[in-house]
Amino acid sequence: MRRFLTGLLAASLCLAGVPASAGTKEDVASFVQPTQEGRLAALEALLRREGLAYEIQTFAGGPAGKPMQGGNVVVTLGKGKRDILLTAHYDAKVLKDGTLAGAVVDNAASVVAIIQAARQLKPGAMKHRLRIVFFDQEELGLLGAKAYAAGPDGRRVAAVINFDVNGYGDTPFFADPTDPALAKAVRHACLAAGEDCLAFGAYPPSDHLAFRKAGVPETSISYLPAREAHQLWLFTHAGKTSGLEPDFMPRVLGLIHTPGDTMAAVEPATVERASELAVELVKAADKAVK
Ligand SMILES: [Zn+2]
Repeated sequence: MRRFLTGLLAASLCLAGVPASAGTKEDVASFVQPTQEGRLAALEALLRREGLAYEIQTFAGGPAGKPMQGGNVVVTLGKGKRDILLTAHYDAKVLKDGTLAGAVVDNAASVVAIIQAARQLKPGAMKHRLRIVFFDQEELGLLGAKAYAAGPDGRRVAAVINFDVNGYGDTPFFADPTDPALAKAVRHACLAAGEDCLAFGAYPPSDHLAFRKAGVPETSISYLPAREAHQLWLFTHAGKTSGLEPDFMPRVLGLIHTPGDTMAAVEPATVERASELAVELVKAADKAVK
């Protein structure tokens, strides 16, 4: 009986149309590839499908003593003298055995979230140009972001909104911007998106830091389950006084950069929430910064 009812329910859901999350999971999963080149190809395929024209800006990267060309993928939308950057890295961590992590929580989920945000953003209504940038070689030391910040386009950047680790959970947390105007804008965006965002003074390192030295207003956003987000805050801010067990580590830190960063960890609803927040963040930053 139960089985029969479940079958009926499934049938009626299908008749009702494709659920909102259809495709999100598949899009994130398309980044699980044996090579970084495979991940780049997956990104290019999504951008082509979405009708988003892109260029690949190459740079001299690679770890110390091992030169390796990198490629930042850049989508330019709208017009303006300066740019709002919406960013996420698409490269994957190389594991100790030389294979690539699935790298879906870190960071294909964010890549898909900002592509989804692009569907809803209206660059024509913005006072800045919008650039959606998919950085390469973040896992080698923010190399793609550093190359972009140091290059000619770096001088045009008005603000950076980076997404890193947005694969599961319902609680967004952000690198509290040192720029007061962007700090206010982030809080307005959280209100507009209906999200209970947590501010992190000590947010884990990601590509936004490549722009901090130049004084560019920047932030980075992640999602985790509420409990885990608070555990991570204590872990990164309170040290020995955190009150956590001495050997305790938030789940996410034992998941990213490991063989455990697979589709089993990904919740499509989180990716979609991150995309909604990205839309509000871009709109708020566009109004707030010069
Ligand atoms: Zn990352």
